[in-house]
Amino acid sequence: MHESGIAEGILKSTLEAAAEAGAVKVNSVDITVGVLTEVMEDALQFAWEAARAASIADGAALNVTMVDARTRCLDCGHEWVHDRYSGAKCPSCEGYLVSLLAGRELRIDSIDID
Ligand SMILES: [Zn+2]
Repeated sequence: MHESGIAEGILKSTLEAAAEAGAVKVNSVDITVGVLTEVMEDALQFAWEAARAASIADGAALNVTMVDARTRCLDCGHEWVHDRYSGAKCPSCEGYLVSLLAGRELRIDSIDID
C-alpha cells in the first residue's frame, strides 16, 4: 500500500500552496488519479484522514477523480480506453506498437482555502 506516501505528498503540496496564499484553513482538495497508478481510492481517503490531522487541512475533503487509461496504436492510429489489465494490444489491428496517453496521472487540480 503506497497510499500513505501519496497522501503525505498531497498534503505537503497543499500546505505549501495554502501557506503561500496566506490561508488559515483548507476546505477541500481536488485531485485526479489515473487507474494505472494502482491507487485505491478508499485506501487513499483513509491515508488522507490520517495525514491531514493536526494541520490546517484537518477536516478537508479529498475529492478524487479517477481517470481510465487511454492508449493509441502507433500502427493504425486507433485510440481506446481500457483498465489497468489491458491496453498492450490494439483492439483494432492487434498491433503491439502502442503508446499510453493517459492513466498515470496523479495531480492536484485545485485547492479550496479560507
Ligand atoms: Zn492498431
